[in-house]
Amino acid sequence: MSSPVRVRFAPSPTGMLHIGGARTALFNWLYARHTGGKFILRIEDTDQARNTQEAVDVIFRGMRWLGLDWDEGPDGKGGTSGDRGPYFQSQRAEIYRKYLEKLKATDKTYEDGGALKFKMPKTPGVVKDLVCGEVTFDRTMEPDLVVQRKDGSPVFHFVNVVDDLEMGITHVIRGEDHLTNTHKHIALYDALGGTPPQFAHIPLILNRGGSKMSKRDEGAALGFYEDAGYLPAAVRNYLCLLGWSPGENQEILPIDELVQRFDLPNINRSNARFDGDKLFWMNGEYWRSLRDTDFQKFAGEYLRRTRPKVAQMDPALLERLLPLIREKVRTGRELAEWLDPYLVEDYDYTEEAKKKQLAAPEVGNWLSALVAAFGAITGAWDDAAVEGACKKVADEAGAKPAKVIHLARAAVSGRTVGPSLFGLLTALGKERVLARLERTRRQLAEGKLVAA
Ligand code: GLU
Repeated sequence: MSSPVRVRFAPSPTGMLHIGGARTALFNWLYARHTGGKFILRIEDTDQARNTQEAVDVIFRGMRWLGLDWDEGPDGKGGTSGDRGPYFQSQRAEIYRKYLEKLKATDKTYEDGGALKFKMPKTPGVVKDLVCGEVTFDRTMEPDLVVQRKDGSPVFHFVNVVDDLEMGITHVIRGEDHLTNTHKHIALYDALGGTPPQFAHIPLILNRGGSKMSKRDEGAALGFYEDAGYLPAAVRNYLCLLGWSPGENQEILPIDELVQRFDLPNINRSNARFDGDKLFWMNGEYWRSLRDTDFQKFAGEYLRRTRPKVAQMDPALLERLLPLIREKVRTGRELAEWLDPYLVEDYDYTEEAKKKQLAAPEVGNWLSALVAAFGAITGAWDDAAVEGACKKVADEAGAKPAKVIHLARAAVSGRTVGPSLFGLLTALGKERVLARLERTRRQLAEGKLVAA
């Protein structure tokens, strides 16, 4: 029987979690959960210059946002959050020192200019990759590999191999950019007397232009989507499809099913193209099908983070407005922007609203008529009543109802777009609607609403 699966995500803290890194983390996590194995997080933080707490926090934040929990830490325990690690290479110097001694004890190293070098075999380097198949590297010209620098610090290739050995990693699932390193790693495993893990190098992610997605590409950082208020489940689902496919033309799958179906043999060989429009679409699908309670939780958290003023808002008003706005938008950021005019009573007016809705000479009279008509509603303040009042004003002015509706929207929100107007007026409530109409009438009279 083969040993239980142990995989790892081994990011270097660079200050951002790249979409490609997030996808690597996800594939490892999926494989661990699919096989009932262990998923380890190992922070490769040996580059002191770049190694800051903030850079590490970005990784944690991204992992948590995507719901990728890791299983164990340096003390060997797993399970509860406090003792789950992760591993930090910066805390493992002693382990690397021991392995350097072990390597030195073979006849495969020599000193050169104060550095320790590993004699690379000159025989062809064969990598049997679960995704890329068998790849052979000609090593006749391959230089020997520095394993320890002059200052005593071990290099990436060495610590990476030592950790995978020490941690009993069974499968290395990582980006294809590391494929060319792998024969070197295998040579080190051999020299240290260890069995190499199986390798699965996953395809590169390309940007719209067809080149490798880089840090500088818009939307290359996972944090971009958290900031924009995408739903993490949607982003996670989309990332699954970058280089892997559940088949049968299915794309949107709940996480349990993704876990069940994910496997290494159906990872694609060809590069994956990142399509921000498709991710936006997928987010919209998740947005629409989100249960009300989950939507409220998501919206509450996003708004508290990005719109502190929401704490001072009438909670009943917020509760009425959110479902109306939700219908029309697809992300947390849009939700927040659409909510902005109702967070405060001294909302501003967009240029478009001033130009298109608040400039005509009859606007003042119509606003007065709206105040009178809404004020006259004595029964239930509901969609039918506010609709009736708008129609009445339009009839008396001999105008199309749409004209009055657009004006009412601009007056109560300062915007030309928003949730359906009757629902909005109902949600705002009579008092607020009247106050907002009055405010607009006043500002208009004072000449404050002239378009620039
Ligand atoms: N720290 C390396 C990286 O971020 C890890 C490579 C690996 O997964 O082995 O690229």
